[in-house]
Amino acid sequence: MRTLAIIGGGYSGTMTAVNLARFSDSPMRIYIINANRPFGRGTAYSTSRTEHLLNVAARNMSAFPDHPDHFFEWLRSRSDFDTFDDKELQEMFVPRRIYGDYIRGIAANFLSPVMPGAEVHLIVIDDVAVDVTKLEGGNAAIKLQSGKTIEADSVLLATGHQPPAGFRSKSPISHDSRYCSDPWENWLDRLPAPGGTVVLLGTGLTMVDSVVTLSELDWKGKIIAISRNGMLPRSHFRGIHYPDYIPENVSELNLSQLVNLVKSHCEKLKQISQNSAIAIDKLRPYTQQLWKNLTLEEKKEFLKKHASNWNVTRHRIAPAIHERVTDQLDDGQLEIIRGNIEYLVPQEQGIEVHYTGSGGTEGVIQGDLVVNCTGPQLRYSTCDVPLTQNLLKRGLVQPDELDMGVTVDDDFRIMEPDGKASKILYAIGPLLRGSLWESIAVPELRGQAMRVAQVMLEQEPVETEEQYVLEYFI
Ligand SMILES: Cc1cc2nc3c(=O)[nH]c(=O)nc-3n(C[C@H](O)[C@H](O)[C@H](O)COP(=O)(O)OP(=O)(O)OC[C@H]3O[C@@H](n4cnc5c(N)ncnc54)[C@H](O)[C@@H]3O)c2cc1C
Repeated sequence: MRTLAIIGGGYSGTMTAVNLARFSDSPMRIYIINANRPFGRGTAYSTSRTEHLLNVAARNMSAFPDHPDHFFEWLRSRSDFDTFDDKELQEMFVPRRIYGDYIRGIAANFLSPVMPGAEVHLIVIDDVAVDVTKLEGGNAAIKLQSGKTIEADSVLLATGHQPPAGFRSKSPISHDSRYCSDPWENWLDRLPAPGGTVVLLGTGLTMVDSVVTLSELDWKGKIIAISRNGMLPRSHFRGIHYPDYIPENVSELNLSQLVNLVKSHCEKLKQISQNSAIAIDKLRPYTQQLWKNLTLEEKKEFLKKHASNWNVTRHRIAPAIHERVTDQLDDGQLEIIRGNIEYLVPQEQGIEVHYTGSGGTEGVIQGDLVVNCTGPQLRYSTCDVPLTQNLLKRGLVQPDELDMGVTVDDDFRIMEPDGKASKILYAIGPLLRGSLWESIAVPELRGQAMRVAQVMLEQEPVETEEQYVLEYFI
């Protein structure tokens, strides 16, 4: 029987398994190896907090690229949305935990053994994959942290974002209860008493989640957020219908021509009192192609000069959330500092965050609780994750030219260091940021999950053993 393994059971891994079940016409065994976050929900949709909203409107969150209204129709089936008309529901930013329910529901439907004619046997393994090797028969062995090993014909890496980068500290900090290195772990039970200070390292979407939760809890204290750009994500808005201005020869444009093109349309929009983000949104269908066409130097220049602006404009937040955060800024509870975080110093009374501000000035802020909200670390090859290090060591993956993730071909087959496409390893999701730039949100990932499932099904199956077969690893 064909056996496929997926490492990572967040949105990308789960929806690939669903698409394998949808398109397979023969019996199949699928292993999903998933740890740390609940299966089907991953990092984004495992929050239990209702104030954490999707940052994409419901109309664009279908899990299936070939059924664009699927999420909206699923919401329509729930009585809690009965009071909203179709238009309101389509434009709604729904709690992320509800989106997690949606993905889990789809998985239960498509991967359930009670489905009539179901020939897919899904095995979800709660463990960490730490290594992969190629076996002589042409298949792969995946080593798990528990010491067990499973075999599969092919393996998909759907491991999501890299863990957050750490900070230098003058003395050991990892076990200090006043420092939280993973913003997704529960730090709310460590909140300082009213009047205390919470310092959030980072001013992106994770910081926004933290700030709205502190507001929801009516926590009375000071919040200081710090990042290199000091920029808050922008709000979604209802824009005008703007013509598709991207020329047919867009792939021939170099970075400076592209920047000038976009700037000129931002200007035009400003002149008619419209939000210039409309011009950026128009690029979305072309972003991956544009990115692929840039030279390495141009990509580096984009990352240096334009990426911060791109991120705050592209990854916008629900208007209600934006309003809440700006209210906290206005009433002084929240302060945002622009500065480069240098190192942390645990003191008897709290933790100091040392930073360099504009013009090279040095500054210090002190928090009773410090939470790392800086987001995933971007350098793939130095990431302290056993699976990543072992894949690199074995020459099974090749970092992309920016070292943000792995390199794949157009069918998501991982490119090996010798330039050949792997016959067993595939990757989708945030691991492809360096290769595709736009590869982190559902509107891109749903297409990847469907396409990679089809490609994996096209591959010749290899005979593999039934279950956890090997107790050793080569
Ligand atoms: C807070 C937040 C909010 C977001 N909101 C939106 C939104 O509203 N709309 C949108 O389109 N996108 C949103 N996104 C983007 C989000 O990245 C994608 O929508 C999607 O959830 C990514 O899913 P993924 O499966 O690729 O990665 P993840 O969700 O990170 O899942 C990867 C899974 O693999 C597991 N894993 C990793 N390595 C191993 C290993 N070695 N062994 C076993 N398990 C492993 C992880 O623990 C995790 O469970 C948001 C992201 C975040 C972080």
